[in-house]
Amino acid sequence: MPPLILVVGGAGYIGSHTALALRDAGLRTLVLDDFSTGFRGALLGGDCVEVDLLDAPRLRAALATHRPAAVVHFAARCYVGESVRDPGAYYRNNVVGTLHLLEAMVASGVANIVFSSTCATYGEPDRVPIEETCPQRPINPYGNTKLACEYLLHDFGTAHGIRSIALRYFNAAGADPQARLGEDHRPETHLIPLALAAAAGRRPPLQVFGADYPTPDGTCIRDYIHVADLADAHVLAVQSLLAGTGGCRAFNLGNGSGASVAEVIAAVARVTGRPVPHRIVARRPGDPPRLVGSTAKITRELGWRPRRSALDQIVADAWAWHERHPDGYAQ
Ligand code: UDP
Repeated sequence: MPPLILVVGGAGYIGSHTALALRDAGLRTLVLDDFSTGFRGALLGGDCVEVDLLDAPRLRAALATHRPAAVVHFAARCYVGESVRDPGAYYRNNVVGTLHLLEAMVASGVANIVFSSTCATYGEPDRVPIEETCPQRPINPYGNTKLACEYLLHDFGTAHGIRSIALRYFNAAGADPQARLGEDHRPETHLIPLALAAAAGRRPPLQVFGADYPTPDGTCIRDYIHVADLADAHVLAVQSLLAGTGGCRAFNLGNGSGASVAEVIAAVARVTGRPVPHRIVARRPGDPPRLVGSTAKITRELGWRPRRSALDQIVADAWAWHERHPDGYAQ
């Protein structure tokens, strides 16, 4: 029987796309989710157990029962602004939840984990493209909690032989190319879904957070990566761990190229054939002008290459999902 992969947070955006990719790669999956922000409709019929990471006894029982070959851990809160207002919720969910998961893994002899980290652990980098060796100095509680989890992985590796890969995501975007899965956050705060909804007339004009940044067109530059390419990277990371590669590794996961907010708006207009109503407002606190990742390391060590990196492709796949599911997943 193929190895079983436990996908923690597999009802969420990146988790659901990864669970599908793992199954497409011939692995078995079991999603573990508390459905606080994920959707049952995103499981696409895959197996699931409903467990809250903060419920340590039930989590430990789930690991002991299923004894997966590896864990892929997505479950976390991920909004910078919310983390500033309510850091306790972020430390509890992200750090305590990950601690419980690692302790349950140790108790059941599960040694392999792929962890969702973030470019927010770099804070405001001195240089772009950002390499993995760049100092990690987060500038908000969300980034602090993810960096704390990376420390946990390192220390559990040393003490208990946990083998880990942290994937530091840049800006996840797009949707399953067959539009079976897509992006549905409530509330939605991300640029591409908001720009699509504005173009479709389903939301008010997009607010552009600042046009006075030191960038060529004055708007912020980010490294948008297709969620299907992200999912592929998780499959490679799992396969690397299952092949027995040890240690505590970290890789950037972006496209290595940047697009400005103005460029994203132009892409949305091209793809949808509609103008994107928008207006320029004040900067959003905590937004660095330019975040672009170097992906040389993951290409070199895991053989990952993005297959859908063009911005118009990312936007087109997101638009196909939006058109097919204008209200997102059914509740
Ligand atoms: N952004 C914007 N208006 C919005 C949402 C986002 O101008 O309504 C900008 C934001 O300032 C950033 C970029 O779009 O420069 C991407 O933001 P998003 O929230 O999608 O991802 P983040 O970079 O915060 O992870």
